[in-house]
Amino acid sequence: MICTPGATIGILGGGQLGRMLGLAARAMGYGIVVWAGPQDAPASAVADRVLKQPLGDLSGTIELLAQCDRITFEWENVPAETVEMLAEHRPCHPSATVLRVTQDRLEERSFLTQLGIPTAPAQGIASATDLELAQQNVGIPARIKTARGGYDGGGQWKVRSEQDLAALPTMDGSTTYRWEKEIAFEREISVILARSTTGEVRVFPIFENEHREGVLHLTRCPARITPEVERRAVQIARSIAEKLEIVGTLTVECFVLADGEILVNELAPRVHNSGHLTIEACATSQFEQHIRAICGLPLGDTALRSPAAMVNLLGDRTRPTVTLVGAADALAIPDAHLHLYGKKEVRARRKLGHVTALASTLDEAVSRATRAHAALSFG
Ligand code: ATP
Ligand code: MG
Repeated sequence: MICTPGATIGILGGGQLGRMLGLAARAMGYGIVVWAGPQDAPASAVADRVLKQPLGDLSGTIELLAQCDRITFEWENVPAETVEMLAEHRPCHPSATVLRVTQDRLEERSFLTQLGIPTAPAQGIASATDLELAQQNVGIPARIKTARGGYDGGGQWKVRSEQDLAALPTMDGSTTYRWEKEIAFEREISVILARSTTGEVRVFPIFENEHREGVLHLTRCPARITPEVERRAVQIARSIAEKLEIVGTLTVECFVLADGEILVNELAPRVHNSGHLTIEACATSQFEQHIRAICGLPLGDTALRSPAAMVNLLGDRTRPTVTLVGAADALAIPDAHLHLYGKKEVRARRKLGHVTALASTLDEAVSRATRAHAALSFG
């Protein structure tokens, strides 16, 4: 059933993704309720109402149901039970089933393996014995990742030699991790698609991503890949979306090896940082597309209107306020666009905003975005 503009959409999670989803939904005429929880929430500024209860709280669930016609989330670590409860009373997309698969790196990995999709060699570990086995079977160099709750490279440890093992958390069985082979990839890409309540699927152009210390730094589009890699990446993402029967946005993060082989790194059942440049560069942004998908509206054209690049603005160190310096210089650069998330406090590596630049060539777009980024700082 279509959820017509004028109705109210509830968003679980109050971060920058919720803020940009809210902006898109508002532009289309929807009311917005954000379940942000108690902390500093960028999405609050675009909401008609904000729920401050911790996510999962029963009174919040009841309030959200009373106020919303359709529900979605901007963060995959919301409690799946809450989504399940909400879905009994209102359409809630993506589903709790999708959340359960993507909230746990081991669940996600076995799902991908069942589908026959290649991934980095890996093994689940929780005890000292598991650790030894993984060391033998998968080997060093490796990355150890918490099975649940990690993002922006958090909850990860690099093991380059046996000496690094000492820095790992104690394997006492209380927490599960994944021991994953370190992959010498040629590049990282992401495929973002939307699938609507009607089953219609539209895929965005592929994004190429550069990370620094585990956090996305720069995205360029189009990705510098062969048509064959593109075809295969899209096929993988579509097959995952169909198998999950996802409604909403799906992001598939991939490593591309020198021989063109694709390994899926991880899934995000939501709009994604690498898709931010779609706001200026694509006929329809990932945020508008997500709203169309969950509301049962026809999906928009995803065509790339211009080569584009996006650079994240991260905090350098803890500061009590966010004061942006250099906006006039950054915005003097042709076709450079600034997005600031309205966060109240600067912290090291915290995502505070991003810049996107368009140009007639990819190199020029990267140069403009990089220059805009260099012009900006937090004072
Ligand atoms: P995010 O929330 O930013 O997507 P995350 O914390 O969920 O990240 P990953 O996506 O697994 O974690 O890892 C972050 C980045 O670290 C990857 O994009 C990649 O650059 C690097 N990385 C992760 N796993 C590996 C690996 N096995 N080999 C090489 N690099 C890796
Ligand atoms: Mg990732």
